[in-house]
Amino acid sequence: MTAEPREGLRDAGLYLSPQLTDVAARLNTNESPHRLPETFFDELAAAIRDLPLNRYPDGSMRGLREDLAAMHGWTPEGTWAANGSNEILTQLLQAYGGPGRRALVFEPTYPMHSRIGLLTHTTIERRPLPADFVLTDAEVEVARRTAADVVFVCSPNNPTGNPQPLTVVEAIADALPSSLVIVDEAYGEFAPATSARPLLDRFDNVAVVRTFSKAFAMAGARVGYVLAAPAVVGDLALIRLPYHLSAPSQTAAIVALRHRTEALQLLDAVRTQRDRIAAELAVMAGVTVFPSEANFVLFIPPRDPTLVWQGLLDRGVLIRDMTGVVPGALRVTAGSEQETDLFLRALKEVLG
Ligand code: PMP
Repeated sequence: MTAEPREGLRDAGLYLSPQLTDVAARLNTNESPHRLPETFFDELAAAIRDLPLNRYPDGSMRGLREDLAAMHGWTPEGTWAANGSNEILTQLLQAYGGPGRRALVFEPTYPMHSRIGLLTHTTIERRPLPADFVLTDAEVEVARRTAADVVFVCSPNNPTGNPQPLTVVEAIADALPSSLVIVDEAYGEFAPATSARPLLDRFDNVAVVRTFSKAFAMAGARVGYVLAAPAVVGDLALIRLPYHLSAPSQTAAIVALRHRTEALQLLDAVRTQRDRIAAELAVMAGVTVFPSEANFVLFIPPRDPTLVWQGLLDRGVLIRDMTGVVPGALRVTAGSEQETDLFLRALKEVLG
């Protein structure tokens, strides 16, 4: 006897990003290379020590939602948190996707959008981004014709790095008033001027998704959140599992928000390395580099990308093979200055 899982599940394969810990530079998952300051960890330790862990956590996540709302000038009723933005995206699709419903993705983009579609039995409609990866009025028309229940916009887009024009996001929300436009801003802190947050004041069908995993240097804590109309958050409250966000997770996020000035200061160092990577790649013979406003850079090397990836790994530098998403492309996270040195030196060696 063998139990059969649901149809198609095993065909999906695992979502994998190698987590090699014995490399000198881990530049494959867009984490922050920096540790939050020691005062953060001291406060966090004290706060965790005081938690009544014999009790369930605050199921309404009140403190965290109030602090997030205050930071964004939004309402706690329109703010919701979960275990990473991937859980937020899953909850959004559980509520707004599902059997018989459709979600539109413009590719290349973050592959988890379509994968969460599969996991939530949502039909995925795939359409191409223009050659420069920037959405235009033509894609608004595509969205209108598709009339999907959910439209994903990733801005800045992973893995290409470019933000999407707010005017286009707005036009999509306008064209599909009863669909949910999910703007995935996992890298939003790196490009604050492009955020879709202002659209929330006028559109009840826009959801802005953010995370503590990147700019907040807290990928290990697994906290993400969404800003949207209170009705959307009400729907998430219906589908979530009881007490889904643990007390330590809520506490970590609350304490991190108290240190946000320090966290945001770390961004400048990351941006400096990103721009340095882009500038150096641009002058390497035969390398195509894409402009980025996130904490990573996408590029196409002039040689077999898989061999280049392996050559870098042999020199202790782990980056991301993106050839399955953008033909021929590799993506490198902007790390510390020292990690960037290692990457650039290794790449020059590999490319000869
Ligand atoms: N959205 C995008 C565009 C991402 O790149 C990532 C992380 N790679 C996520 C969402 C998920 O991040 P997390 O679940 O850690 O918040």
